[in-house]
Amino acid sequence: MANLNNPAKPALLDRLTEFPRLTLTQAPTPIEPLPRLGADLGIELFVKRDDMTGLAMGGNKARQLEFYFGAAQAAKADTILITGAVQSNFIRMAAAAAARLGMAAHVQLEDRVPGMGADYARSGNVLLLDILGAKIHTYPHGEDEAGADARLHHMAAELRAQGRRPYVIPLAPNHPPLGALGYVVAAQEISDQMAAAERDFDCVVVASGSGLTHGGLLFGLRACGRTMAVQGICVRRPEAAQRPRIAAKCQEIADLLGVASPVTAADIQLDDEALAPGYGRPSAAVKHAIRLTAAREGLLLDPVYTGKVMAGLIVLARGGAWKKGARVLFIHTGGTPALFAYGEELRGE
Ligand SMILES: *Cc1c(COP(=O)(O)O)cnc(C)c1O
Repeated sequence: MANLNNPAKPALLDRLTEFPRLTLTQAPTPIEPLPRLGADLGIELFVKRDDMTGLAMGGNKARQLEFYFGAAQAAKADTILITGAVQSNFIRMAAAAAARLGMAAHVQLEDRVPGMGADYARSGNVLLLDILGAKIHTYPHGEDEAGADARLHHMAAELRAQGRRPYVIPLAPNHPPLGALGYVVAAQEISDQMAAAERDFDCVVVASGSGLTHGGLLFGLRACGRTMAVQGICVRRPEAAQRPRIAAKCQEIADLLGVASPVTAADIQLDDEALAPGYGRPSAAVKHAIRLTAAREGLLLDPVYTGKVMAGLIVLARGGAWKKGARVLFIHTGGTPALFAYGEELRGE
């Protein structure tokens, strides 16, 4: 049933404050209605504007980085290292945070989406990285999580030998999911906004990539006593591969906080209808979702993540996943600089 009151601050989250955290986000980010797009889809649609976190054009990674940079500063690091896709928003915002904190940034760009054009290689997030003054390294061996990680640690060892104090932002599996704590915090923020506006949601729709965002949000909402559906949209790998990742992520968050997980197997909802043809490759449905959201609401989505999430949301709405007038909250996780890297894929119909 609708739970309009602000549930008491849950003891489950007491330990959150024990983790070092820097303020890199302008929060709370707004929740806004999307009435025209919602009417098209027969639902009451809202957007959580996490594209407005601030930090070099903003996005969900600002919240995650508050905890990684908290850990880096606690370790007295003067240099951060991070690896990811060429058009990674995480890397762009990590470079911005490093600049703001007077630290050096060594970034490694992995060629996870081969065959893209010149804009992909040089514009969007890559241009911003260059402007932000990051030291850019490339990893040309395609999708190879372990290899890319080993190379990053090798670079860290070299920097240490030169007298630097490097901190590798630990994103590979089997590291505690510090960044997910940023979305546990975001879940509390959403719960507080719901209470203040006396507004309930039937479903929250969010990108499911590494799962730090999806896992953190699901964990945090359940810890706050919020029972609405949390629908993950696969942007990186198919549903069957993503499900155990999210389950593991939620358990790792519980372990990190030293509590029992409030998340059950049935809480993990995933849909991969919009994933094809694969990570970082927008389909015609994604292009349509981006252009429809822009035309109806003046809201810009991105081609890698939020465009896919909106395409997935549209498939679910048109397929009758929600009753008419259901209240759905779309999490805008940012990523808009990548629009300029995908100009050829997104231009006119
Ligand atoms: C990284 C990213 C995501 C996915 O978040 P995860 O925490 O990796 O699942 C979604 N949207 C944008 C814009 C991102 O940059």
